[in-house]
Amino acid sequence: MPEAVIVAVDGPAGSGKSSVCRGTAAALGLWYLDTGAMYRAMTCAVLDAKIDPTDASAVAEFAAIPVITSGIDPLAPTISVNGIDVSTPIRSEAVTAAVSPVSAVPEVRARLVALQREHVERARHSQNGIVVEGRDIGSVVLPDAHLKVYLTADPVVRATRRAAETGTDAVAATEAALKARDAYDSSRAASPLTQADDAIVVDTTEMTLQQVIDHVCDLVNNCKENDV
Ligand code: C5P
Repeated sequence: MPEAVIVAVDGPAGSGKSSVCRGTAAALGLWYLDTGAMYRAMTCAVLDAKIDPTDASAVAEFAAIPVITSGIDPLAPTISVNGIDVSTPIRSEAVTAAVSPVSAVPEVRARLVALQREHVERARHSQNGIVVEGRDIGSVVLPDAHLKVYLTADPVVRATRRAAETGTDAVAATEAALKARDAYDSSRAASPLTQADDAIVVDTTEMTLQQVIDHVCDLVNNCKENDV
């Protein structure tokens, strides 16, 4: 058995990564890291500093400044900037609209990928293991993860789920926003949203959340048993 199993989960916006990763990590007693929350926290800091999120050189210059701290408990994940809890503001429309251009800046990615790898190194030595979710985890951040999962779902289903989460009935507008964010995240030069060659694709279109969690737990247990 690997001393601490490292699980990478990628996929487009609204594919259910957060719920699935939290549920899987909680069920298996693993740590959990939401890298999307880290990019959102950086975006919050950019907006608070009154920097234009589309001004790549200003964002690049600022990227080293904010102290971004993530909690790794899947039952109560936390995220803060300079010691201030930003778990609510990172979900605001303003942050969601600005996060893709901020995340496309190489200096932002370098800074946050280094932090992400530090968490994974701590997990590796803690014998707890970790589930890490994002867009480039299997392809760039953790190419040696024991298990790579690529979660996907029909765009209308993803939009319907996301609209229900945010309490809106504007499914068509939500779908358009998700598609625009996916297009930006998939086409950027630095570490785009990619399905790693060795990732297991899980299409959740016809599955309930619990079915997906059970399936991913089986994949993790299987990889532990096979000592990969
Ligand atoms: O997962 P979530 O939707 O919260 O991610 C917000 C944004 O953060 C994504 O749209 C993407 O621009 C960025 N992101 C990224 N790389 C990751 C995780 C998220 O670029 N590993």
